[in-house]
Formats: sequence, structure tokens, C-alpha cells
Amino acid sequence: MKCDNCGKEIKVGRGIMYVRNDGTYFSVCSKKCLIKKLRAKS
Ligand SMILES: [Zn+2]
Repeated sequence: MKCDNCGKEIKVGRGIMYVRNDGTYFSVCSKKCLIKKLRAKS
């Protein structure tokens, strides 16, 4: 599994899985990447 923001490999048990209101989801390696990803609104 790779970080959806920076592309770094996420180790099992690490990282953050985020589910949007519309049911789609993505995973990121850190809170920093989560914030960036949410701001990008892709
Ligand atoms: Zn990342």
C-alpha cells in the first residue's frame, strides 16, 4: 500500500485510512500527508 499523497510505501499497521463522505477512501502515511491530500481535493 502506498501513500496517496507522497507515494511512499506505508507499512502494515501504519498510516491513516481516510473515508470521505461519498464513500471513497484513500490511505496516507502521515497526518501531514492527510491534510495535504484533503486540501488538494482531487
Ligand atoms: Zn505520505
